[in-house]
Amino acid sequence: MQQYLQQDIQFLSGVGPKRADLLRQELNINTFEDLLTYYPYRYVDRSRFYTISEVSSDMPFIQLRGKVHGYAAVGKGRGKRLVADFRDETGRIELVWFKGAKWIPENHPIGKELVVFGRPNVYQRKLNLVHPEIEDPGKKHVVSSKLQAVYSTTEKLKDQYLTSKAISKLMANLIKSLPKKFEETLPAWLLQKLNLVNLDTAMRKIHFPDEAAQYKRAELRLKFEELFYIQLNILQGKSDRNKRFRGNVFETVGASFNTFYKEHLPFELTGAQKKVMKELRRDMGSGRQMNRLLQGDVGSGKTLVALMSMLIAIDNGFQTCIMAPTEILAQQHHKSISRFLQGMDTRVELLTGSTKKADREPIHEGLLDGSLHILIGTHALIEEVVQFRKLGLVVIDEQHRFGVAQRARLWKKADVIPHVLVMTATPIPRTLAMTLYGDLDVSVIDELPPGRKPIITRRSYDSKRLEVFGFLKKQLALGRQAYIVYPLIKESESMDYKDLEDGYESISRAFPPPQYQVSVVHGKMKPEEKEISMNHFIKGRTHIMVATTVIEVGVDIPNASIMIIESAERFGLSQLHQLRGRVGRGADQSYCILMAGFKLSDDGRKRIETMVSTNDGFEIAEVDLKLRGPGDIEGTQQSGVPFNLKIAHLGKDGQILQLARDKAELIITEDPDLQMEKNFIFAKHIKKGNPQRIDWGKIS
Ligand code: ADP
Ligand code: MG
Repeated sequence: MQQYLQQDIQFLSGVGPKRADLLRQELNINTFEDLLTYYPYRYVDRSRFYTISEVSSDMPFIQLRGKVHGYAAVGKGRGKRLVADFRDETGRIELVWFKGAKWIPENHPIGKELVVFGRPNVYQRKLNLVHPEIEDPGKKHVVSSKLQAVYSTTEKLKDQYLTSKAISKLMANLIKSLPKKFEETLPAWLLQKLNLVNLDTAMRKIHFPDEAAQYKRAELRLKFEELFYIQLNILQGKSDRNKRFRGNVFETVGASFNTFYKEHLPFELTGAQKKVMKELRRDMGSGRQMNRLLQGDVGSGKTLVALMSMLIAIDNGFQTCIMAPTEILAQQHHKSISRFLQGMDTRVELLTGSTKKADREPIHEGLLDGSLHILIGTHALIEEVVQFRKLGLVVIDEQHRFGVAQRARLWKKADVIPHVLVMTATPIPRTLAMTLYGDLDVSVIDELPPGRKPIITRRSYDSKRLEVFGFLKKQLALGRQAYIVYPLIKESESMDYKDLEDGYESISRAFPPPQYQVSVVHGKMKPEEKEISMNHFIKGRTHIMVATTVIEVGVDIPNASIMIIESAERFGLSQLHQLRGRVGRGADQSYCILMAGFKLSDDGRKRIETMVSTNDGFEIAEVDLKLRGPGDIEGTQQSGVPFNLKIAHLGKDGQILQLARDKAELIITEDPDLQMEKNFIFAKHIKKGNPQRIDWGKIS
């Protein structure tokens, strides 16, 4: 059976070389199995007819029976369309075509009985169906009297008549041709316990259900299996690693930590910071190598927690480093950590791409002789020449900007793999963290330091720009500073810079010198230029910073309390949240103003509404995950996890994921090597759920 499923898709009846090429290119379907796991994304019920009087615009796809009473060509240019007046005994609805209208009246003459199928919309207060499917009720309808699976296709496929229906036909051919039943991949005891259908039933009914309950059960089974094997894999890897690798034991809390805590720490730790410190200390003292993800919203005080863990490492005779994604961030860490440690004999150095050769030598020496305790830097840290005497803890800030391979190179710098603390200010929904970072332990700082005023977020419109500028002037008069951010979309960089440049011009006109000074920062500038511009703003010499998203991460300027985001609908949710996090860092009331046009897509509107309604990064991340697939979530791509879920959706299937995680945990706890007879089947299939995960502990 397995062999049968591995056959090239071109050999399936109804495919052939030409269609096989298309399926390969467009849908990545290479084999019979690939086609079988190309699951429908929804089902339509074509067993039922509605009457026009029943129709409302919030219905999904509907089917009507009636006649066209007349055709009319309406509109001009891009709005040009063919409109049919379609009626049954109960009312009328418009059918609309924007293209391909030429043959419609000929093929579907006025007065002939027709079945139309489509999704109802409202346009100018009238109901319509745009580009409906039309059938002659006399002929075809008999076949489509069941639930029909709908597969997503592409324009290119449709051009070659590989529509959803055509795919369904291929699926039917394939399922009919199967020599045997599908081989079961979960043990009977588990299926029984969870009341799941067997694989054979699931695979058949997911494509050809007789009723809704069947595809729902099939879906549950297949989603569970997919998520379960991922979890089993992750948890087994983690359990393996814990067995194989010992970790440095940080036993003592000594002079560095205590001096800092008692004499240098300018404020009380928040409850959340204390809780996380306990978790870190427990890990680092356990004899196992720590792999921990520290999540916390921007400004929640992660850097401070990292610093205190580093001091513990130092107290135990180890060196530590922080790796930041950008030069500016590394500098900022260096500055704030040096300030925190002022007067202590802890040596801190900065190493980035632009560190001069002469300055590098003492750093290298200090690393080798152990006199250098904390090294802060960018990618420069992982260069071959950077060698530590005794590296005990690595802190990675904004982890998603580092590739897996780069991280692995850090591990090579110590005999015993250092403890790893990954910090991220992009809150990751629990379900996603469980999967993406399933083998990391997770700590969360879910509390902001006291005294912060929540940022006030408002949506505004281009037509109200004068008001927005007026507000901005008042704020600047109070001595505050502001960011104005323009979007950047890769496909049309030149145009985007035009947005930024035009914006800069109009802002310079509205805020003329000498009263107002404006800085610009964007990705096309040389690092030195960026630096200078940034520094003018940091030092308060300029009042407004016009920028692209380069200011997104980590920059901390307490006096900047206004964030204006232009074309806000063009940003992703987590990016908007990151940008907003640039303000609200000082004692003043901060504002975030989202400029957007009137016409927004549903998702665009939802993003903006979410931003206006909450400051909670986790809540925002949940919405983001629901709006987009996990593959699009900031960071998942870069983190090197090829995410290829075929049926489960991390944003929507949280409960199934939790179930899968719980079951996998029980199984691994009882039988870590999957050697018990009842678990044999897992050992056989565990490779299935094997997205190439980051092996945080591995020296490659
Ligand atoms: P993050 O890295 O999580 O964005 P930071 O560590 O940069 O946050 O902290 C943001 C600001 O809050 C810094 O200026 C820091 O000194 C300050 N801070 C951190 N913890 C506390 C606390 N417990 N009480 C008051 N201020 C704090
Ligand atoms: Mg930070």
